[in-house]
Amino acid sequence: MESLTTGKATLLLKGKGVSKGVVIGRAIIVDESDLEIPHYYLNAAQLDAECERLDRAIQAVYDELDQLQRELPQDAPKELAPLLNVHSLLVSDPMLAQECKVLIRDNAYNAEWALSAQGQHLAHQFEAMDDAYLRERALDIRQVIELVINELQGGGNKPMDLVSKISEGVSTIVVARDITPAEMVKLRAAHFAGFITDIGGPTSHTAIVARSMGVPAVCGATNARHLIHDHDLIVIDGESGDIVVNPSAEILRFYQAKEERLLEDRSQLWENRLLPAMSLDEQAITILGNIENPEEAGEVLAQGGQGIGLYRTEFLFMGNREGLPSEDEQYEAYASVLIQMQTKPVTIRTLDLGYDKNMQGEFSSAVNPALGLRAVRYCLAQPEMFLSQLKALLRAARHGHLKILIPMIANHQEIVAVKNLLQEAAHRLRAEGKDFSEDYELGVMIEIPAVAYVVDLILAEVDFVSIGTNDLIQYMLAIDRIDSDVAHLFDPLHPAVVRMIAHVIDTGLSMNKPVSICGEMAGDSLYTRLLLGLGLKEFSMSPKQIPEVKHIIRQSHIAQTRQRVMRSLKQHPRLELDAHGFIV
Ligand code: PEP
Ligand code: MG
Repeated sequence: MESLTTGKATLLLKGKGVSKGVVIGRAIIVDESDLEIPHYYLNAAQLDAECERLDRAIQAVYDELDQLQRELPQDAPKELAPLLNVHSLLVSDPMLAQECKVLIRDNAYNAEWALSAQGQHLAHQFEAMDDAYLRERALDIRQVIELVINELQGGGNKPMDLVSKISEGVSTIVVARDITPAEMVKLRAAHFAGFITDIGGPTSHTAIVARSMGVPAVCGATNARHLIHDHDLIVIDGESGDIVVNPSAEILRFYQAKEERLLEDRSQLWENRLLPAMSLDEQAITILGNIENPEEAGEVLAQGGQGIGLYRTEFLFMGNREGLPSEDEQYEAYASVLIQMQTKPVTIRTLDLGYDKNMQGEFSSAVNPALGLRAVRYCLAQPEMFLSQLKALLRAARHGHLKILIPMIANHQEIVAVKNLLQEAAHRLRAEGKDFSEDYELGVMIEIPAVAYVVDLILAEVDFVSIGTNDLIQYMLAIDRIDSDVAHLFDPLHPAVVRMIAHVIDTGLSMNKPVSICGEMAGDSLYTRLLLGLGLKEFSMSPKQIPEVKHIIRQSHIAQTRQRVMRSLKQHPRLELDAHGFIV
């Protein structure tokens, strides 16, 4: 590899590490966000034709986004479909074409000029909004406008053209101002080894998708695109956010060693992934997988999972362009997971729509969707829709070990209402002469602090609970989990959060009812030792996280870990963990 160094001056850049791992490769620069926008006046005879040219470009971009959504590979990161959908909605908003046409007709602007003027106007409106999530949409507006301008200019300089720049066998690192979801779909087909963007942070599209692809990425590296050139040799450290451009031989050797170490660790984890999740003091822990569609069930088994701890069924509804999926379609999906998992447990969560996850084209009008008609509240408000899901679940129950999980339960009455609807579903299936089974377990998600507090009352009504730490922390600490401005305050180690989790686990143990965690905290290896010490016996996570968490469990002496955690909880107001999750 030493011959890779060029003798060019070494440059050190810093951004935010958003997806772990070290990668060394050659840069290719995506320039299209820096479009040269032609500005010229039209004469009166040209105005109609210009409006038609604009319509054709908008339609072409819409068609392309639509095609990308329809042809999304099954293994594409789940976040891409909703992101593409936002862009489709923005580009097909009739107001966009209308307002641009006013600028073309009244000011005689060419279409590119009209688009860029309208784009700036809209982006400024979004940027001035109080709501941080809406503020972030300014970036989407700019990206969509750029897609249309690029189309007007012949559609060149697209990521697909970049694919031809790649040399066989050389790792390629994409350097861009930002990467749109549509570009991501195209780029991922060409196996890029890393991403650097000028803007964005841990919650940007690039970051989300890079993490789910397992590709190192650094975002917010201001001006990286202007400081790095095509074919420069680049090192990315996706943890520290360091970028080294044209590293010296010595720096390169350092990172090569680090890259090798990380790869070795990863292959070791992969080799051991099917071993039992048994601690050094022979306590058996259960590791389950979180999935969004039936195709992912096989991945859970391949990564060493023992069943499904969370099947988020809302993705079946979100991805469905023809309205609600029918009872039969749902039955097929649920049965397919149960059949694949044979006798292993399959926890299917009923619909959790209404906050960050919405159906195609449907946006919540609630003032605060996180506190609005979400999840089980939405289902109880739409009993016929909910009944079709419950009927499909009861029909699928014949094929394996089904656990039905209800999200966002806030009180005892909602559990009673769900149980009544389950009875009604069985009653209707009987009347329709359809085969079904009532042999299932019923559980609820612990996501609302009030319910965590009285979990003993809740556990008296159900067979198991699963802690959704993503929402539990959001509601306990009053931090909107999709608002990047407050993301730094999202704190799983807040003493109130740790004590609340401990309380739920202890109550489950004392009542002999299973408690699992299926939020992100369960799959983040930093917290594995802490959760073991708090007494957690069941973890559910993204399939890719299973081998690392299992490795830590196999290295832990749980009784000793528990003593250490309990002592620290008494001695310190707040637990501190080192980089490996040991309590310091
Ligand atoms: C959670 O809230 O922790 C959870 C697992 O549910 P979701 O992330 O789907 O809201
Ligand atoms: Mg949740």
